[in-house]
Amino acid sequence: MKIIEPHVHMIARTVQDYERMARMHTVAICEPAFWAGYDRTSPQAFHDYFTHISEFEPTRAAQYLIQHYCWVCINPKEAEDVGFSREVISFIPEFLKKPTVLGLGEIGLHLSTKNEMTIFAEQVELALKHDQLIWIHTPHLNDKLRGTKLMLDYLTGHGGVDPDRVMFDHMEEHTLPLVLEHGFWAAMTVYPVTKNSPQRVIDAIETYGPDRLVVDASGDWGPSDPATLHDTIFEMRMRGHSDKAVERIFYNNPCQFLRQSGKFRLEMM
Ligand SMILES: [Zn+2]
Repeated sequence: MKIIEPHVHMIARTVQDYERMARMHTVAICEPAFWAGYDRTSPQAFHDYFTHISEFEPTRAAQYLIQHYCWVCINPKEAEDVGFSREVISFIPEFLKKPTVLGLGEIGLHLSTKNEMTIFAEQVELALKHDQLIWIHTPHLNDKLRGTKLMLDYLTGHGGVDPDRVMFDHMEEHTLPLVLEHGFWAAMTVYPVTKNSPQRVIDAIETYGPDRLVVDASGDWGPSDPATLHDTIFEMRMRGHSDKAVERIFYNNPCQFLRQSGKFRLEMM
């Protein structure tokens, strides 16, 4: 069985993680643009970052037979300064032309402020203008429901957004059904310590069914581990789900969503 990791920040990981993922049959991974653990001090730092994830990481991944794709954007944690954000947005189109850039992401909300919402909306417009997929970061903890609803209301009221081309990430039990019932895709992120566990993720899949659902691990600069994806696969198999059902969640579903970019090179199984 082949595995797709839809969300991992490899800039914060070592080659040992690439090697471990390769040994566990991960064949493609996607790196959304996000916070780096500190606030960048200039728009140029984002230009360097986008160059890193669109040019250097694919070469690191290729050494382990893994296809590396990325998403670019000004992330919600650094989007409070509207002028600064617009400077970053101004050079995003040049990256959208690159062969491994799948769309705008992970855009969204952090503290769900008015300024964050302004920049979220402007990046949705940019995605629509360039016919790009959208990957959305929803706020963590207490603000998740409010932030998710704000973005859902905006996108459903917009009129020009095809929900089949939008992924809401970091979904939990209380936000998942809202997103799915409006026709959007939903991703659940597995963490080793806090938030979603493999058990909670499989419970949700059993409750809501496999349509438009994907799972990602939490590979970043904090307490996290790309292998939590494979722990979740193990949990699903231990509960007696068929290989076909497991393959759908961990390969075919992400493949189906990502192939809409026109750049994702893997075929459905
Ligand atoms: Zn992320």
